[in-house]
Order: sequence, then C-alpha cells, then structure tokens
Amino acid sequence: MTNEELKDALLMAPKNGCTRLDEAQKAEMEAYAKRYMDFMTACKTEREATAWAVRKAEGLGFKPFTPGMDVHPGDKIYYNNRDKAIALAVIGTEPLSRGANICAAHVDSPRLDLKPNPLYEDSEIAYFKTHYYGGIKKYQWTVTPLAIHGVVCRKDGSMVTVTIGEDPSDPILMVSDLLVHLAADQMQKPLAKGIEGEQLNVILGTEPLTGEGSDLVKLNIMRLLNEKYGLVEADFQSAELTMVPAGPAREAGLDRSLISAYGHDDRVCAYAELEALFALESPAKTAVCILADKEEIGSVGISGMQSHYFEHFMGTLCDAQGVKLEDCFAASFCLSADVSNAFDPNFPETCERRNNSFLNYGISICKYTGSRGKGGCSDASAEAMGHVRSTLDGAGVIWQLATLGKVDQGGGGTVAAYMANRNIVTVDAGVPVLSMHAPLELVSKLDCYETMLACKAIYLA
Ligand code: MN
Ligand code: MN
Repeated sequence: MTNEELKDALLMAPKNGCTRLDEAQKAEMEAYAKRYMDFMTACKTEREATAWAVRKAEGLGFKPFTPGMDVHPGDKIYYNNRDKAIALAVIGTEPLSRGANICAAHVDSPRLDLKPNPLYEDSEIAYFKTHYYGGIKKYQWTVTPLAIHGVVCRKDGSMVTVTIGEDPSDPILMVSDLLVHLAADQMQKPLAKGIEGEQLNVILGTEPLTGEGSDLVKLNIMRLLNEKYGLVEADFQSAELTMVPAGPAREAGLDRSLISAYGHDDRVCAYAELEALFALESPAKTAVCILADKEEIGSVGISGMQSHYFEHFMGTLCDAQGVKLEDCFAASFCLSADVSNAFDPNFPETCERRNNSFLNYGISICKYTGSRGKGGCSDASAEAMGHVRSTLDGAGVIWQLATLGKVDQGGGGTVAAYMANRNIVTVDAGVPVLSMHAPLELVSKLDCYETMLACKAIYLA
C-alpha cells in the first residue's frame, strides 16, 4: 500500500460541502434558503416565531394539546406555551416506552427590551429607556436601524400587537453614538465600556406639540401611540416591547452563498427542526420539536427549557399510552439544536482550527460546549456521538465536528444540559454563524439546508 492509499484508508479528509452537492441538491438548497429567509423576515421575537409555527402547524392538521387528550400513531399535536414557546409532536407507531426523538432549539435572540417605565424626554428629544436581553456587544446596537416589536396587555385584558419599523413606509428608530470629533475620551475606553447599558436609549422624536406645557415632545409621541394603538403611558406597565434590527433577511456575498439576518441564533435551527417535522407522516418513534424561549438568559422562566411545561406535554402523551414519563425520557434522544461559531479569519487567535466549525462544512456537531474546564455543559458520551455519527452518515448529511473556540477563551451554554438533566441522551449540534449576537449575523445556505436534513434524519432514527 502506498502512503496515499494508506492515508485514504486511515485519515479523515474534510471537504467543503459546496463541492459535494449535485445540481438538484443545490436547487433544493436554494428553495429552502428562500423559505427560511421569509420566515426570518416575518419572525423576530419568540412570540412571532411561536405564532408562525402554530399557524403553519394548524394548516398541516396539527391539533392543540388538551390535558388528558387521547393520542394515536400518526397524530400531530402542538402545545402552545403561552404564545412564547411551542412543542410539537408527530406520534410514532412505536410506543413512547421506546423513547422519542427530540430536536430542541430556541426562538429568543439578543435584543433591547423596553424598561417597564420607558418613555421620557431630555433636551427636547423623546426616548425609550431599554434594558438589553442576552449577551450583546453594546456598541453594535447604536447607529443601526431598529424596529419595535411586541405586545401590550391593556387594563381591560385586551392585547395589542405593536410593530413599527418593518414596513418600508414606516419610520425606523435609532440609538445615537458620539461623533468621532469629540470621542477622544470614549476612544480610549475598552470596547465593553465605549457604550454603556444606560446609553442604549432609543430616539423616538423631536417635535413638540404647540402651546404651553412641559415635555411636549414626549406628549406628542404618546399622542401618536394613542392614535395608532389606543395606548396610554400606564400601558407600558403591562407590556413586552422590544427593539430589534429593522429590515428583512437578505442574501449576502457576491455569490449569494450566505444569508444575513437578525437572530439566526437560534431561529436558524428552529426553522430547520420545524420543516423537518412538518415533512414527517408516520415515523417509527414519536418525533418532538421544541422551540424554547429564554435560552439567551439561562433557559429560565415558565417558557424556558427548564420549565415543567415540557413534562406536562410529554407526560400527557405518555399517559395516553399507559407509559411512565421517566421510562420515555430514559429511552429518548435529543439533538440540542443551537448555533456554533464559524471560523473567522479576521479573529483566528480565538479559535483552534483543528476543532472549530467552518462555513459550508455542514451542520456542526458539538460534543460539549461550556467554558473553562467544560463548565456548565452537557458533555455527550462516546455512545451518543456514535449514534449521531452513524445516523447522519446513513442519511448522507454533510456534517462537521467542532467546539466553541479556544480553551480558556470564553464559551457558552445551550439547552442541552437541561435536556440531559431529564435523563435524556443529548448531543449539541447546529449551524455555524459569523458575528453571532450582533444585530446582523451571517450563515451559509448550505449549512442551513444540511441542518434541516440532519433534523429529519434524527427524527427518523
Ligand atoms: Mn443559541
Ligand atoms: Mn445565543
């Protein structure tokens, strides 16, 4: 045997996925990317993604969960968790005592939430005070077009949906930054201090009402909100309003191989899971798709992945089959579908090339996330990794193996640890992203498409 033959037989030879797709696959990938971009343009908050999923699911015959409901193989069910998270299932032909195949992503993304008492006027400019949600580099959220999305619960209990800044005829909103000419002091500060949390104030307007009085710019803004949505200032006390980057998802790169959008983390995996689930008819094992909220702040709260709503949902499905929930969990598998960092040649010093994901190398399988000595992660076993490896290879999915950056450089967590805590075998996997958590993030079409194929393969494993 020559060394070349020996090399082929013994060593790995990763290849860029673009060279591995035929023309028909490329056409499918492009069609998938188009559908994904439409979803991203329509869904910028967990509520919008949940509503989108409910709408689509109902169109495909999914029935809303009711406590104690009867379920049969082939049934399609969804649990809408208070309009902020959703779990969907296609009931398998095998009993739940054999376990479920679960894909779990999150649909919340970093953003600027309005403070509970947000509206004020300073120097005849009206502003919203904000409180950032999730991990952001604050300077990135200044001088970028923002839209306001959310809901208000009025005193009588009626809900108002607010969206301003997305229609091309809408105004956009913005946070200002200091002109460079007067930034001598600011430019000396470390990046984390250049813009502080209390400076992320959103400009709403500058035109005072005519006549006598104080704070007439603020009053005019409140008048406009009252005209359009019937709101009074006290309504901010019971509202979830948030500032997100304005504008649609778009193709990026001269070759159009990338997609630029707000919130790929982690709606890129959420969408992949959903499309894969919607394509299922009668899987052997019950397939479960989770779109969780609150991942960016620790998977906490009633709509986060630590919430017992998941037990409520799965427990009811198990009860209908006379199966103990614990037995179902013990036999289940979960793909914790969340994004990873794509290698960025602008910052090579933060990554270890031999163990980092690369754009266009397919879905990135992560044995562990965490920080320092793997702190806070769900370190998948050899057997769990073996299951994913053979499942994805068996389905012809393009995938790569990766960790999140250099040891001791930082790190992050996902919902994986919370699924594993339930005694469910769990592996992290997701789409590599450039500029993660920035107002606009980049992913490759190929990695998005392969992630959908991977979710399908896991559901059918
Ligand atoms: Mn994420
Ligand atoms: Mn994140």
